[in-house]
Amino acid sequence: MAINLRRSGIRDFVVFDKESDIGGVWRDNVYPGCGCDVPSHLYSYSFARYADWTRAYPKQEEILDYLHRCVSRWKLESHLRLGTEIAEARWRPQEGLWRLRDTAGTEYTARTLVCGVGQLNRPRYAAVPGRETFTGAQFHSAAWDPAWPPEAFAGQDVAVIGTGASAVQFVPEIAPHARSLKVFQRSANWVIPKYDYAFGPASRWAFRNVPGLRLALRGIIYTVVGETLLYSAIAGSALGRGVQKFSARHLRKQIADPALRAKLTPDFPIGCKRILISDDWYPALARDNVDVVTDPVAEITPDGVRTADGTDHPATVVIHATGFRATEFLSPIEITGRTGTRLAERWKDGASAYLGIAVPEFPNLFLLYGPTTNLGHNSVVYMIESQVRYIMRWLEAAGSGQVEVAEEALAAYTANTQRLLSRTAWAAGCTSWYKTADGRLVNNWPRRSFRYRLATTRRRARDFLTP
Ligand code: NAP
Repeated sequence: MAINLRRSGIRDFVVFDKESDIGGVWRDNVYPGCGCDVPSHLYSYSFARYADWTRAYPKQEEILDYLHRCVSRWKLESHLRLGTEIAEARWRPQEGLWRLRDTAGTEYTARTLVCGVGQLNRPRYAAVPGRETFTGAQFHSAAWDPAWPPEAFAGQDVAVIGTGASAVQFVPEIAPHARSLKVFQRSANWVIPKYDYAFGPASRWAFRNVPGLRLALRGIIYTVVGETLLYSAIAGSALGRGVQKFSARHLRKQIADPALRAKLTPDFPIGCKRILISDDWYPALARDNVDVVTDPVAEITPDGVRTADGTDHPATVVIHATGFRATEFLSPIEITGRTGTRLAERWKDGASAYLGIAVPEFPNLFLLYGPTTNLGHNSVVYMIESQVRYIMRWLEAAGSGQVEVAEEALAAYTANTQRLLSRTAWAAGCTSWYKTADGRLVNNWPRRSFRYRLATTRRRARDFLTP
């Protein structure tokens, strides 16, 4: 968003971040093995395609470095207000402005407010008692204690709660070092191979020098892997059932023990939860010093984890790989709109925004990566770029005036999106971070991502009240 504002010649903007650096999830998540399971050549801005990726799938440090390069290339430093946490934003109808207040009490005003706080930045813990009683070391995967590199696990008995996309990345890194490691699995996941590898000097030379190569690769990954293969699993098509067979074969190939294989076989169709992509998760679980525990976690005790069958599992380190409070969009920022309604109040039964971007009664407020814009099959950077383009168009049209989406436009968008979501694999019977407590799917875009690009290409003036 900031780059596009600058590219359009707009200089009068600031970017707040509560932390002391930019980078979002790529700044926060520093667990061993952290990286992205979207291939490198797709996981970048279309206007800043990076030539120097070192591997097929980028690691966290490389992505953060890429983002820092973007900040300096587009001279964003002077716009950044780091270490500034916005607590409240209130629309002032008399002034036609947003008034913001940070946690230190400083106030700011802005004609337009764009929120890009993400969906996966507030850690969630298992809803079991006793966490505060544990006497060993414990941390969440998204708040990894830097005193715990893989080697530090030597001689430790480790308990990992959770088996999502984060756990599959760090468990293989620490398992070879730990004395014992127990993975507490509530549900098994479908996993497909990653085929990750480091680019050799010839490939890296080619990415730099062969015209069109990066663009072609990006297009193939986007179209063939994302929009066709992975999307088929979400759509539940015949091809999707083929992807499930491919995943089952990956399990058979990597896990020889039938009892362990049975534990790791999901009881829901592929695509219902996020598909995991890993070459080394199953081999880590098959190690002699690793156990997969499927009895539900009942309690954290001073000495480890107790499961519902009453067994105590002693541990010196507990790692909570239990994900994020992903359905509580924008929380805990208190945002109050034109009519005095708070956004959290409006969203108490589940967040919704027109195209995931605009909310009635909240003029000149735009969301990036808002409700119904997450993907399970392709790069969210593509979605965010679609949103940025759309917002830029509205900023241009609104000028110094106000723009607010109409209630009817949101109602029609939400009804259609929910109808489409109900036909996807996400709606099948499984738990996932895509669902609110009462099972409403609020995070994801139900169609292929290019359909979102099309939907955001035109600015439908009739859907907005002004200008
Ligand atoms: P997650 O996918 O939400 O996984 C949380 C895990 O904790 C699940 O296995 C869940 O079990 C488990 N859990 C929760 N409560 C539990 C309990 N009481 N007892 C036992 N297990 C419990 O979180 P995540 O792994 O941090 O990943 C979140 C998202 O971040 C991903 O889906 C992905 O979008 C993103 N991410 C992306 C990458 C990447 O490579 N691009 C890497 C990491 C993360 P259930 O499955 O039964 O609910």
